[in-house]
Amino acid sequence: MRNILLPSIRIPYNLTKGSLAERNINSGKFTDKIYESISSGINSNRAILKFETIQSKLSELIPGVKIKVRQDENANCEAIVDLIGDKKGKACGFLLAIKSPKSQVKVDFLPKLIHEIQHISDYLYNPKLLARDQKLFNTLGRSNKYSNFYDKYMYNEYPFDEEASRRFYISYISKALNDFVKSANKKVIIDYLQDVRYSLRGELLAYKKQKEYAYKLSEKGFKIKPEDFSERVKYFMFEEKIKLVETVLFDLISKQRLKNAQKIKNNKFIDGTSF
Ligand SMILES: [Zn+2]
Repeated sequence: MRNILLPSIRIPYNLTKGSLAERNINSGKFTDKIYESISSGINSNRAILKFETIQSKLSELIPGVKIKVRQDENANCEAIVDLIGDKKGKACGFLLAIKSPKSQVKVDFLPKLIHEIQHISDYLYNPKLLARDQKLFNTLGRSNKYSNFYDKYMYNEYPFDEEASRRFYISYISKALNDFVKSANKKVIIDYLQDVRYSLRGELLAYKKQKEYAYKLSEKGFKIKPEDFSERVKYFMFEEKIKLVETVLFDLISKQRLKNAQKIKNNKFIDGTSF
């Protein structure tokens, strides 16, 4: 199957041109635009935001892209963005699942909502990431040792401040990563690690936006305590983990290139002797 994205999951390609840094800026601006629209009319701590409203504002701002906002009482986190797949295994839309019993959220949930919306913006402005996710999903399926590894070692917190203890944790993660790579399927590991690298980078962007809006809302007088979670993000050690993944990737890609060069050389040799 050719790994092309369906129109219901992407914005026009001319919007997604440019360097990664430019795309990061544009996806951030897009999140701001969505925030403006979603939060208009919210003027007190008692204000409620219905899922229907979030859904219709998103559809209005991203016409043609399928986004479903749904309550998910069984989720193990407050909110999550996932891809919706069609019967052929193609990603055809985004699912924004929120743990909330009444299909509505309060004002203090807004920063978290912005975090999730930043993930959607990030996907829209980086269609290559989406295409890679689609490819990996079709090769690996949804629940597997690869997603478990990400949850257990990459997207996990280590809530300790002491420098020596943090260094110890990172060396533990490094060992787990190297062991994992040894046991992984050689055909998918480079794509998988690229995916991990960009997912961690995406979390950094999303937490940054979450923090920015938590401060904005609290300055406007809303009952939100930005400090509660802005401190928390350091316990994920995303930057350190990105570096670990990049080191392993660099090594794998160098070996792969060497192998390919060797193959070309051998082929030339065979060609050369066949005449
Ligand atoms: Zn996130």
